[in-house]
Amino acid sequence: MTSHVLLSISGLHKAFGGLIAVNQMQFDICEGEIIGLLGPNGSGKTTVINLISGALSPNDGKVVLDGKDITNLPAHKISHAGIARTFQLVRILPDLDCIENIEAGLAYRTKPLWGHDAHTAAYELLERIGLEKHAHTPAGDLTYIDQKRLELGRALALQPKLLLLDEWLAGLNPSELQDGITLVRKLKHEGLTIIMVEHVMDAIRSLCDRCVVMNAGAKIADGSPDAVLSDGEVIRAYLGD
Ligand code: ADP
Repeated sequence: MTSHVLLSISGLHKAFGGLIAVNQMQFDICEGEIIGLLGPNGSGKTTVINLISGALSPNDGKVVLDGKDITNLPAHKISHAGIARTFQLVRILPDLDCIENIEAGLAYRTKPLWGHDAHTAAYELLERIGLEKHAHTPAGDLTYIDQKRLELGRALALQPKLLLLDEWLAGLNPSELQDGITLVRKLKHEGLTIIMVEHVMDAIRSLCDRCVVMNAGAKIADGSPDAVLSDGEVIRAYLGD
């Protein structure tokens, strides 16, 4: 089977003043893969997500999506090119109900949907993420996992090729975690390509095809979950050696 490279980052560099947050990062992700982006706190994972999604511009390096150089494009153009993300702190519109939250997301599509079309598409999306029974619940009244589902739904409303999940599974209790893992696995089976910044080891082992591990801004390992999680350098980085 030939695998098509969907996203390629190379030589990516980002400094904040004197602090080098991301240093010569490079990796590829193939269509349909789930990559776990791992590393201790402060190792540069969220900065990489911000550089891919256009929230930040790199000082050097390239981000290529589907053969198209998207480095330095503004975030809305990157989203139109096919990359959507969730945030570490959930960003939903708490006073609007779930269907309205998704409709707000649909308005940001390359070809925005409005009115009846938006309503129908929003309901279908709520079914896809298991929130249809809360279509008319204000987002602020949802449980934590359902707020996370809704945020994911808003990202999916953009019809991305690549989904960036920033600690989407963090803070869930064990049964919510299983539900969260099931939903991410379903998205993979639907053909979505996913990069997930994650600390939850059960989730990483059961979902990720490959893991890229960062420490102090640089890549220190790239391989199967089992291989990287038993790698001496990775273990030392996590233990703060
Ligand atoms: P991680 O996601 O792995 O915890 P981050 O990418 O958030 O790491 O941070 C990497 C480093 O860059 C940290 O030292 C952090 O303090 C620093 N950093 C991140 N964002 C900024 C910013 N906007 N301004 C200054 N320093 C930042």
